[in-house]
Amino acid sequence: MNIIIKPHHLLDIFKLYGKGLENFVPDKNFNHDFYLIGNCVIENKVDEIQFTYGHDDICKPCKYLKNNICIDRFSYNSIIYEKNDYNEKLDIRLIHLLGIDANKTYKFKDIIDLINNKISLELINLVWYGSNKEDNEIRYNFTKKGIDKFILRYQL
Ligand code: SF4
Repeated sequence: MNIIIKPHHLLDIFKLYGKGLENFVPDKNFNHDFYLIGNCVIENKVDEIQFTYGHDDICKPCKYLKNNICIDRFSYNSIIYEKNDYNEKLDIRLIHLLGIDANKTYKFKDIIDLINNKISLELINLVWYGSNKEDNEIRYNFTKKGIDKFILRYQL
């Protein structure tokens, strides 16, 4: 399967995999395809991958996607954020720091190598710079654990 994905969604999948999730299930509230793409990733069924900071394959059926814009909001440390704006800026930083070309199609294996080489607490702090230090440490630890587990499982 070939996928188009926001880079932070891919890291979220590995973070949850690192936390111990082995099977993603549909979310009835969002109705997005996080479970579908998530399972495809952790089962190593992705062939080619493209990145975007706009809406991706996960967002397509989501009830919060209207005219290709995410209309969802979230609250963090008592501040309300527009998810579209927040995620777009976050994914632009991530694409830049990982050295990804958003116009290019990559082999999934090459992206695993890239993330494995570049993932660090420093990178997480730069991308999620508005988040608490403790939250970023937890994010980094589980993401790294998920990548390591994936590489070991599929002998990559
Ligand atoms: S549209 Fe928004 S809420 Fe829905 S999956 Fe995409 S980013 Fe998440």
